[in-house]
Amino acid sequence: MDVALAKAWLDTAADAIAAQADQLTTLDAAIGDSDHGVNMNRGFGAVRTALAGAAPDGVGAVFTLAGSTLVSKVGGASGPLYGSALRALGKSLPEGPEVDAAAFGAGLRAGLEALRKLGGAAPGDKTIVDAYLPAVDAYDAALRQHGGDGDGGLAAAARAAAEAAAEGVRATVPLQARKGRASYLGERSIGHQDPGATSTWLIFQALADATA
Ligand code: ADP
Ligand code: MG
Ligand code: MG
Repeated sequence: MDVALAKAWLDTAADAIAAQADQLTTLDAAIGDSDHGVNMNRGFGAVRTALAGAAPDGVGAVFTLAGSTLVSKVGGASGPLYGSALRALGKSLPEGPEVDAAAFGAGLRAGLEALRKLGGAAPGDKTIVDAYLPAVDAYDAALRQHGGDGDGGLAAAARAAAEAAAEGVRATVPLQARKGRASYLGERSIGHQDPGATSTWLIFQALADATA
């Protein structure tokens, strides 16, 4: 992955979030406060603007800038969570204009760890983690199977990650929320798809689309 592809991923994610913002907000209306699409669209719109006005000298710098932008522009829980993940991804990458698929995969996992450290959610708590964790596991498994670090490996791993994230989203429906606003609903959170897991799937699908 090079700087151009890193930016293309985030632009593709911003497009997908803009297109699905109403849907994300509708999901949040059922078990939250009806702002997830608004929060994500504001945040990724700001990321798009920040990246357009900057000339990051490395792949890591693209993600640290994106992460800091999300933390500063989004008031909801999702801004600091995704922002911390992107910042940790950026900081974990080796310096330079290009990183291989294995380093990027390790960075995605470092992002997940930062998000879990901040939010304290375990798998099954009906959160972002329920899409993000299976996505990074599938990414790593696909990369091992592909046996290489070339662009083909990245594309295959991203596709596997997006599919696993989609499955993770579906699996949130029967769960009871144990973190975030939806947890205030107790058992009434059961039977609804988690908004944050859904936006995580959009972001991994954008990675698959940008690397295809
Ligand atoms: P807010 O709840 O502050 O209005 P958003 O609506 O933007 O923020 O985001 C809600 C989403 O954030 C939830 O659907 C859930 O997936 C995710 N979330 C909330 N708390 C946590 C947490 N502690 N760890 C991981 N994800 C969380
Ligand atoms: Mg909300
Ligand atoms: Mg809110």
